[in-house]
Amino acid sequence: MNILNLAVANLFHRRTTQRFPNREAPAAAFRGQVAMDADLCVTCGICAQVCVSDAIQVVPSEGSGTWTYDPGACTFCGSCLAHCPVDALTQATDRGPAYGLSGDQAVTIVVEYPACRECGRPATPFSESLLRQALPGAAEELRERARLCGDCRQRASVRAMKKAFGGPDSTERQDDGR
Ligand code: SF4
Ligand code: SF4
Repeated sequence: MNILNLAVANLFHRRTTQRFPNREAPAAAFRGQVAMDADLCVTCGICAQVCVSDAIQVVPSEGSGTWTYDPGACTFCGSCLAHCPVDALTQATDRGPAYGLSGDQAVTIVVEYPACRECGRPATPFSESLLRQALPGAAEELRERARLCGDCRQRASVRAMKKAFGGPDSTERQDDGR
């Protein structure tokens, strides 16, 4: 069939493509785009480390951290969900928005860090379930210490050691005359 005949034949065919935003329903096995719950995330970065497509970046910082996801790079494998220690990730079953270039639909979510219970400065996010997994028999005192910022946690540890062993406070400068 020459090109002219093909063009004429196509005039009488039904359209085989769909106009945006109409799209076919995703296949039953389609896992969908990844979503993150900022109330659960502790910005540990495990999801970014296990993602072979580099679709997730986690950047912890002073006072907050950012979680960035690019569906254009994602293969929807579900590995990040399987490894998140606090179940902060889910996958939507809908197909999601259409996009052209990688990065078009990238989203960044800010995870605000909680206030230290002693000084009020931002502290590393704490997860009760993560601590239970790491230290199943952790005492309540240890759990309280995990909610403090780094400086206050260090001071609390020194206080606890002094109380247990009665030795000098290692944070005090030892003046030996030199
Ligand atoms: S693995 Fe879970 S808790 Fe850790 S950064 Fe990713 S989403 Fe947050
Ligand atoms: S579903 Fe797979 S490819 Fe997509 S962000 Fe998670 S680990 Fe990466």
